[in-house]
Amino acid sequence: MRSKHLKGVVFGPQGSGKGTQGVLMAERLNIPIIGAGDLFRAEMAEKSTLGQLVTQYVNQGLLVPDELVNALMTRQLKRHDLSRGFILDGYPRNVEQATSLDRLLAINLVIQIKISDTEVVKRLSGRLQCVKCKSVYHETEAPPVKKGICSLCGEKLMRREDDKEDVIKQRLKAYHYMTAPLAGFYRQKGVLLVINGEQPIQYVFEDIMNKISKLGFVT
Ligand SMILES: [Zn+2]
Repeated sequence: MRSKHLKGVVFGPQGSGKGTQGVLMAERLNIPIIGAGDLFRAEMAEKSTLGQLVTQYVNQGLLVPDELVNALMTRQLKRHDLSRGFILDGYPRNVEQATSLDRLLAINLVIQIKISDTEVVKRLSGRLQCVKCKSVYHETEAPPVKKGICSLCGEKLMRREDDKEDVIKQRLKAYHYMTAPLAGFYRQKGVLLVINGEQPIQYVFEDIMNKISKLGFVT
């Protein structure tokens, strides 16, 4: 069997580690990773026409409409040489966007990092961040030397607004409603690979690499 280049998508809820896995895969496979979040931030900072539109939605706390997201991502994808493979992170976020992506290029693998809601809440609600140097800790998994104090600069540690339990649960609800249906969409196309995200980062990564190698992708 001839090896094929990975033209992939990685998705999962916040706290699943999908961003980290995407970066690790891109490094190992030496292919570009295209992150929707990074792209949005860059466009907003650049104040491009589309970027200014994105800013308007974000500032009002609204979801950026699919048409706008699709337009931005399509333009970004056309800028890259994708012939030797790529990974998308944060896009598509729903079936509408996946349908648009489908018209643009053929995705040959979609990795779903699966993790229970309980585990997400446990991981994210324990996160603490330094108010000054922004270092991140975890109450039980990676505690600072002195409770509540940054080990690097000695400033106070705080929970981020995004990491409060009710905010996390709200976002999980949105994920299940909006993004999780991607699994059915891509399963039907025969390109869905489900990975257990409740293992240490390195195990998740090895699991992914083993499986994609067995599926005949260049690794
Ligand atoms: Zn600090």
